[in-house]
Amino acid sequence: MTPKPLLNETMDVSVALEGLNKAQREAVAAPPGNILVLAGAGSGKTRALTRRIAWHIHTGQAKPYDILAATFTNKAATEMRNRVETLLQQPTSDMWIGTFHRIAHRFLRIHWQEAGLPQSFQILDRGDQLREVKRAVVDLGLDPEQYSPKDAQWFINTCKSDRLRPQDLDRPEYPKQQQLINIYQAYQQTCDRAGLVDFDELLLRAYELFRDNDSLLAHYRQRFHYLLVDEFQDINELKYDWLRRLAGQDNYVFAVGDDDQSIYGFRGANAGFMKRFRDEFPKVAEFRLEQNYRSTANILKAANALIANNEARLGKDLWTEGEAGAKLELCAAYNEYEEARFVVERIRDAKMRDGIDYQNNAILYRVNALSRVLEETLNQVGVPYRVVGGLRFYERMEIKDALAYVRLAALPRDNAAFERIVNTPVRGIGSRSVEELRNRARVSGASLWQTSQEAVAQSMLLPRRVLSALQAFLDLLQNMAQTLRDKSLDAAVDLIIQDSGLLKHYEKEGREKAQIRSENLEELVQAAADFEVWFEINKEHLGELDLLSAFLSHAALEAGDADADGVEDEVQLMTLHAAKGLEFQQVYMVGMEEGVFPHWRSLDEAEELEEERRLCYVGMTRAMSKLTLSRAQSRRLYNAESAPMASRFLKEIPSQFIEEDEPEDAVAPGFLSAASDAAIEAPFHLKQRVRHAKFGVGTVLNLEGHGSHARVQVIFDTVGAKWLVLAYANLKAL
Ligand code: ATP
Ligand code: MG
Repeated sequence: MTPKPLLNETMDVSVALEGLNKAQREAVAAPPGNILVLAGAGSGKTRALTRRIAWHIHTGQAKPYDILAATFTNKAATEMRNRVETLLQQPTSDMWIGTFHRIAHRFLRIHWQEAGLPQSFQILDRGDQLREVKRAVVDLGLDPEQYSPKDAQWFINTCKSDRLRPQDLDRPEYPKQQQLINIYQAYQQTCDRAGLVDFDELLLRAYELFRDNDSLLAHYRQRFHYLLVDEFQDINELKYDWLRRLAGQDNYVFAVGDDDQSIYGFRGANAGFMKRFRDEFPKVAEFRLEQNYRSTANILKAANALIANNEARLGKDLWTEGEAGAKLELCAAYNEYEEARFVVERIRDAKMRDGIDYQNNAILYRVNALSRVLEETLNQVGVPYRVVGGLRFYERMEIKDALAYVRLAALPRDNAAFERIVNTPVRGIGSRSVEELRNRARVSGASLWQTSQEAVAQSMLLPRRVLSALQAFLDLLQNMAQTLRDKSLDAAVDLIIQDSGLLKHYEKEGREKAQIRSENLEELVQAAADFEVWFEINKEHLGELDLLSAFLSHAALEAGDADADGVEDEVQLMTLHAAKGLEFQQVYMVGMEEGVFPHWRSLDEAEELEEERRLCYVGMTRAMSKLTLSRAQSRRLYNAESAPMASRFLKEIPSQFIEEDEPEDAVAPGFLSAASDAAIEAPFHLKQRVRHAKFGVGTVLNLEGHGSHARVQVIFDTVGAKWLVLAYANLKAL
């Protein structure tokens, strides 16, 4: 008689396979070996990966100590660890589960010596890194205007992900490159001397550790028999090579991914690594999962139809047993405010009527700048929200930089603003000079501004070169103060941004990041314009507060809101990129317009357009039960007004899955019209000429809402487009 297996063993093994379909079970319980699970969104890839870990443990194939699992975001890594702990009913501290960066960091903490680092090495975040790069540029006597520290930082990080050290770069490919190499070298020397490690350095060092240290590599090959990687489609050369070395010939990699969700082409990732994995690792067994468990049939079929428009695909079918569910809702709002109110109202309704918590709603957008109007609207109606994987609009660096100029121009004794911008962009007033000013100011009790004025006037305290830079800075700010007195708020903010050199400072990056910053800055001008209209309407209630102070406090308060913690039930706002791997009951994708999404930069390149489409697919497949897509017929973004066409992606979704929601009769969303008191009949029609006491004569472009909340948009002949609440605007028909 064969001995009965121990009871708890059988139970354990069944836990690992419980609630899996046949294909998932096959992948999870496959014999040890290299495995590629290639499957569509929501088909249970992440679930299979965590079950595979439990399977290894429960069958006794592996001890927790043998396991290393990597993913891409902290949120995903935490989720993975929690799931495994729940499955195993025991802590997972012996397993290495984390993002690639954290895993690399862990190796370096243990092997700091072999990696040539001091034991107490510190990590430089991107901001710290930029400051160090800047210093290297200045120390080399280079002109930061010509060699923008941002550019240099990008160059350094790209080299690092390409596994290139300064000495590997002996032949510059273009004239400027030699200096960039020198900056890289100087920066790296400083870091090495000070024991500083930036993000890309973590990965590169960990890679070199294995490349150059056979006994160490052998040790870890002995240890980590089971390597698991989620979101494999977004791996890059360095990580791939690192993984390959660690795996060697004898260990097993369990890789899961979806080529249709590859969205980091610009960071050197490409789905081609899945093909390479298949070809380059020994005996890879491949599994496909085709049943989707996340989304209702309407959502899934719509997403499938969209992605079918891509040519570069490995190809797969995805189906669901789930019910058809609600159709996708499509909203074409008049403008971005109408769009935001529409979304926020839907979210509030769902909470009131159906008890769907705020946290089960995600608002996804293609570009960061789109979040501002959404954030304002959420704040206005008191719906709590969180910006995932990014900063709130008024907390973003470029916004704080620009506002520091406005603040200092408005209030010269604002020392914090002074410190923030006195050398941003770099103008040769280094930290030692600022330190001098600070000490002096401390003794005399004067502001930094005053102290600088005295130093300049009396030609003291600082070297002449610095004094003349300081003089120029003071003059610049005085001009800005004049601008603030002379111009309307938005025009002044715009001019100040131009004159500050910030736009140029960021634009010189010429890349993804720089683009986003300059877009956000343009959006700030728009915010000022919007605020001016709001102020006109509300100023009686604001006491003595003038427009500028009101605007600056508004900005500070919006930024400070993030401190209000303790609130857990929050609407989730994030870019489409940050949404990867996550799921939400209700998803709102806003800004579905040509030029916004797909992004204008991708319009001419077939390959980039396909990446945009994959991003759209990622967004749509986050939704479990309700997907809403919205666009604005007129959008003011980056301080420009446009009437964008509907995104081509909307047209690629077959109409049978869609319910159109055209707000034809301009009804304002419920919470705005709820307070509707004495109805004011709009006495205006489109194209009508009107006069406003402050803005002058203009033409009506848009009408919306009714009752006390009816608004009109007017293009004024001199000041441009403004939205006005009829009840307050006191418009006269001409
Ligand atoms: P993505 O491509 O977005 O990363 P994924 O393939 O990793 O998705 P999971 O997140 O693992 O998918 O699973 C999607 C959802 O389906 C989760 O809520 C998961 O719990 C559920 N799920 C997966 N497999 C099953 C199953 N066999 N039975 C029931 N629910 C399942
Ligand atoms: Mg997943």
